[in-house]
Formats: sequence, C-alpha cells, structure tokens
Amino acid sequence: MVPVRATRLRLDPITCDGHGLCAELLPELIALDDWGYPVLLATEIPPHLRAATRRAAAACPKLALTLERTPAGRAVPGRTD
Ligand code: SF4
Repeated sequence: MVPVRATRLRLDPITCDGHGLCAELLPELIALDDWGYPVLLATEIPPHLRAATRRAAAACPKLALTLERTPAGRAVPGRTD
C-alpha cells in the first residue's frame, strides 16, 4: 500500500440553488432529491471521475461544490499513484 491523498467532494446546501446542473454533469456521484436539490451519492471521488468532478464543480453557478484533499498519509489499498 502506498499513502496517497484522496479527493473528496463537498456540497454547501445553503449556497446551492437547486437547479440540478451538477447532477446532469456528474450523475455517477450526484442525484437529485424530490425537490430538485443535489444529494451526494459518495463523497470520495474515484480517480476516473476526478476530471468530471472538477468540471461539475467549476460549472456550478453558485460555487456550492468544492473538492478537497484528505489529509496525507492515509493508505489506500491497491493504489500506486
Ligand atoms: S450546480 Fe450548484 S447550485 Fe446547481 S444544484 Fe448543483 S450544487 Fe446546487
């Protein structure tokens, strides 16, 4: 195992306007509730979805989506990057 930094997705529900653009751009990680507000299906972003997640966060008109790195030193099995 190699220690890596994982990337997490955060949603600010106070800032979000609930128009659902993020769920259209990133359906793998974001769904909409009955009122059209996003629900994160997972917070840890798989490596193959990092670029799409960055695009979804950049496209949010309210800047309610942010990516953050988890603290260093956490080992992730099977990861070599
Ligand atoms: S794109 Fe931004 S403002 Fe729109 S629903 Fe998603 S998080 Fe909320």
